[in-house]
Amino acid sequence: MPRKRILVTGGAGFIGSHLCEKLLQEGNDVICLDNLFTGRKDNIRHLMGDPYFEFVRQDLLEDIYIECDQIYNLACPASPIHYQYDPIKTTKACFIGALHTLGLAKRCHARILQASTSEVYGDPEIHPQPESYRGSVNPIGIRSCYDEGKRVAETLFFDYHRQHGVKIKVIRIFNTYGPRMRPDDGRVVSNFIVQALKNQDITIYGDGTQTRSFCYVDDLVDGMIRMMNSREEFTGPVNLGNPGEFTMLELANLVLKITGSSSKIVHLPLPQDDPTQRKPVIDLAMKELDWCPTIKLEDGLKKTVAYFEEYLKNA
Ligand code: UDP
Repeated sequence: MPRKRILVTGGAGFIGSHLCEKLLQEGNDVICLDNLFTGRKDNIRHLMGDPYFEFVRQDLLEDIYIECDQIYNLACPASPIHYQYDPIKTTKACFIGALHTLGLAKRCHARILQASTSEVYGDPEIHPQPESYRGSVNPIGIRSCYDEGKRVAETLFFDYHRQHGVKIKVIRIFNTYGPRMRPDDGRVVSNFIVQALKNQDITIYGDGTQTRSFCYVDDLVDGMIRMMNSREEFTGPVNLGNPGEFTMLELANLVLKITGSSSKIVHLPLPQDDPTQRKPVIDLAMKELDWCPTIKLEDGLKKTVAYFEEYLKNA
């Protein structure tokens, strides 16, 4: 296959850096664009010497002038702490970021994949969530900047597709974890692991019965690349996530078991609009992409714990 020129926006972030790495391994020419708000140079330092890897420090709110064959649009702070830090800019990053990357895709005749999210389902009344479910999102809450931003980005993708024939792909990513998560991004997996490794209290918000489905990052990246290269008519949206569903209490106990930590579990108030349950239906991804996650939560957590052990040693 000829070498493709691929743009990854948000390429220095947790998921983006794993995606850049995999695309390079597959023999592509990768341009990683990131403003480094939540992305980190450390995530891509090991790729910097590769002649087929380029890093561009730029905010997606500015116009992009490059040539490419494929675009993965990931740029947006994704953890509640970070997307709520400057909520107006979060909505702008979703909307204007989609507009700029779609404009680029239109000019370059590139395929473009939007990293959408399970957050488009809000606090779902239907469980588990199929792609046909339209969601239950609060338009004025503290999560809305991200949820509604990602929803309008999906709208723009489908309108560029209908109006201009842009070749779009939309994936809805469910909770993902693995090495290179930020220790300070407030996500449950990184919080629990860092707390356990430091023998600090494990902070469960609420009673811990809320559920999430956790997908290991390698499985997700595999699904993203399959989606980008799927038959042209298949636009999605398609759920990518691991249907294994766990309560936060179960997750905390699993992290304690793996780390052998003596941390105690404490309960803190539940944040506003915190979804009570979340689990993807992945029949569509299985059928269209022949994709299914393979890494069990316990195995993925062990790899993630190993990463944070090393990280904390050098911190
Ligand atoms: N959570 C928790 N303790 C923490 C961080 C998060 O109990 O230290 C809970 C949070 O309230 C939510 C779940 O874990 O119910 C997942 O939170 P995260 O921020 O990782 O992802 P999201 O809510 O976006 O799915």
